[in-house]
Amino acid sequence: MTQTFQELGLAPVLLETLEHIGYSEPTPIQREAIPHLLAGRDVLGQAQTGTGKTAAFTLPTLQQLHNESLQVLILAPTRELAIQNAEAVYRYGHKIGLRVLPIYGGQSYDRQIRRLNKGVHVVVGTPGRTLDLIRQGHLNLDDVKYLILDEADEMLKMGFIEDIEQIIDATDEENRQTILFSATFSKEIKRIAEQYMRDAVHIKIESEQMTGDNIEQVHYLVKQRDKINALSRILEVEQPLSTLIFAKTKVGSAELAEQLIAQNYPAVAIHGDLSQQERERILGRFRKGESQILVATDVMARGVDIPAVSHVINYDLPQLAIEYVHRIGRTGRAGRTGKAITLLTPNQRRALKVIEGYVSNQIPRAQLPTREQVLAIREQQFMNNLIDQIQKVESSDANLQTLVDMGYEMDHIATALIRMLRSQEADESLATISDVNSRDKSRNDRRDRGRDRGDRNGKGRGRGRGGKRNRGRREEGMVRLIMAVGRSNGVKPGDVVYKIASQSEIPGSVLGQIDIQNNKTFVDVPEEHVQKVLTNGKNLTIKGQPAKLKLA
Ligand code: AMP
Repeated sequence: MTQTFQELGLAPVLLETLEHIGYSEPTPIQREAIPHLLAGRDVLGQAQTGTGKTAAFTLPTLQQLHNESLQVLILAPTRELAIQNAEAVYRYGHKIGLRVLPIYGGQSYDRQIRRLNKGVHVVVGTPGRTLDLIRQGHLNLDDVKYLILDEADEMLKMGFIEDIEQIIDATDEENRQTILFSATFSKEIKRIAEQYMRDAVHIKIESEQMTGDNIEQVHYLVKQRDKINALSRILEVEQPLSTLIFAKTKVGSAELAEQLIAQNYPAVAIHGDLSQQERERILGRFRKGESQILVATDVMARGVDIPAVSHVINYDLPQLAIEYVHRIGRTGRAGRTGKAITLLTPNQRRALKVIEGYVSNQIPRAQLPTREQVLAIREQQFMNNLIDQIQKVESSDANLQTLVDMGYEMDHIATALIRMLRSQEADESLATISDVNSRDKSRNDRRDRGRDRGDRNGKGRGRGRGGKRNRGRREEGMVRLIMAVGRSNGVKPGDVVYKIASQSEIPGSVLGQIDIQNNKTFVDVPEEHVQKVLTNGKNLTIKGQPAKLKLA
């Protein structure tokens, strides 16, 4: 049984914060370091970024703050890391009214000094600026109880050793607990540990290297709003045998499975709201190949025995590098090869670098399949199916005989049949995917961020879900359309989005509220797209029924 945060001895207020942030269980470094730090020991931790080390050293120190003075000093090599650590400290500590200040070069002294004078509990600083402020008498370290050296090896590489030693000397040795984190352990680090730390506990978290080259790893750069269409193209081209797709949240996994089903992919989500029996049934079907796509969250995937798969797709990036390793380890088992595909949004490039560092491997960028590639694959598949059917033919068809008797040529009959079949397939037209390099940092990106936040709280925009509440209310700039299909036809929000978006070649994300009623459905479409949607949607069918799309 893995330990919980509570079992590690963290205070209720911190447990509440962690639950709110969504950390369900401690990472290995947190499990090992937190109890020692709470017991007052010095800790020497060997762990990389991506392991959850920041929370490992922050949580126990925050728990033991006892007055208003500066009690925690974290030294970090770069401005970026200082800011990032300060943000993490703020996130973990804001419920206890904690004040934290990042200090680094290049920023005005005045502002930093003013903030220091107002009083802060935690300072996260780069060594140079921190030492300057100590020398100028603005930073008093007398009450510092926790001195944390984060990414110590990087600080040494950058030539900060003398500054660091002077900063350490400015703290009270008797009163101080010293914590040092480093990805690598050089002689110099050992010397610092021996000189400045007291009987330190040494914790080492091995970075999980990939075993062999049997897992091909790639990433695709796509905008948040294009993810579903990108995934759909990837699935069409890869034609995976069995795929495990990871989504960030329980709600996200269920919605993604719905969207895939709406596109005729045999997908199923496995999530915590299902009974044990249902989960086993889903896994059983997946094992037998009856459903080829399983959508899961990290928590769910950890708890159940999912069989090996041909493809792992990170629809959402994992928060922890270690989760990435766990996820992709589901493929390429027992000597087989596997493929791990990650969808990355432009603002997640840094997070990918962290994962690459952790697995000591580059995860190259691949180009999304183009329209032409997908259409060529469809063509190929069509021909394969046709040939397959031709080979199965044993006796001639009575209708065909009638057509021949009527005097039609065989090749004309065949051509007409192929055209008929192809026109049915045209229903599944391809949605457009925008280029990530294009500069429309506009409403859509902001909207994407909003949606990310919504997802994290487990409440997406809830298309079609909050129907009652929003019924009759239309967002500004939207025109309400009505369709003659509804719940009684089995219509789901994903069907509506997919059909309208693909038929009209507009991004699904621009559609507004969808209200599915028993025999009809309302959908809000931005004014600028209404004409296109109505024209292209004349013959729209959903679940095989004519949708009869018109103005509401
Ligand atoms: P770090 O190694 O400290 O840079 O952390 C890497 C990422 O993991 C950060 O985005 C943290 O928010 C996240 N993280 C830390 N601890 C946990 C946890 N127990 N569960 C899930 N995510 C975590």
